[in-house]
Amino acid sequence: MKVTQAELVISAVSAKQYPQEALPEIALAGRSNVGKSSFINKLINRKNLARTSSKPGKTQTLNFYRINKQFFFVDLPGYGYAKVSKTERERWGRFIEEYLTTREQLQLICHLVDIRHQPTKDDQTMADWLNHMDLPRLVVATKADKIPKGKIHQHLKIIKETLQLDKDVPLIAFSAETGQGKDEVWQALNPYILP
Ligand code: GDP
Repeated sequence: MKVTQAELVISAVSAKQYPQEALPEIALAGRSNVGKSSFINKLINRKNLARTSSKPGKTQTLNFYRINKQFFFVDLPGYGYAKVSKTERERWGRFIEEYLTTREQLQLICHLVDIRHQPTKDDQTMADWLNHMDLPRLVVATKADKIPKGKIHQHLKIIKETLQLDKDVPLIAFSAETGQGKDEVWQALNPYILP
């Protein structure tokens, strides 16, 4: 897809603030620092539309990025950030869950995990939950440039097993540095964002 327009429409802190438009939405879920902002920026060829940072846990809002007036990327708050209180974490959990279970515009969930490591307990909790949801899903293994090419297959296998992914859930190795996996991701997204 050729992206000609991309804008952050709102960083929502409550459901009342979600955009009114009926455009399809693709949600991005993942641990803090997994590379969600970098993923968005790489896909749409912008250096810094989505804010990237090496400090995890900053994004506590649902960020709605409107792309080509055709669909939204919805960046969910990163989970698994240890330095927030239990109360805060529970609040985010409810906020994310409410969006995922009630938002009619939601078409597909991209679950991002770090390709280098076995998925964390939080990744597994998220995947278990998604395994029980009736929504199309895509798992993206980020930072693929950080492991040797020859090891990618092995790491994907570990992710697939740990997250107990069904055969029909696409799993794509991705790098925001090299662009690896970008075309494959777009191909997976396309059916859900056609007008
Ligand atoms: P977010 O918290 O999930 O939005 O993560 P960010 O996109 O801010 O990325 C967190 C850190 O990982 C930043 O320092 C990024 O530069 C780095 N990063 C993200 N994606 C990649 C990637 O594909 N390759 C490499 N080498 N670094 C990445």
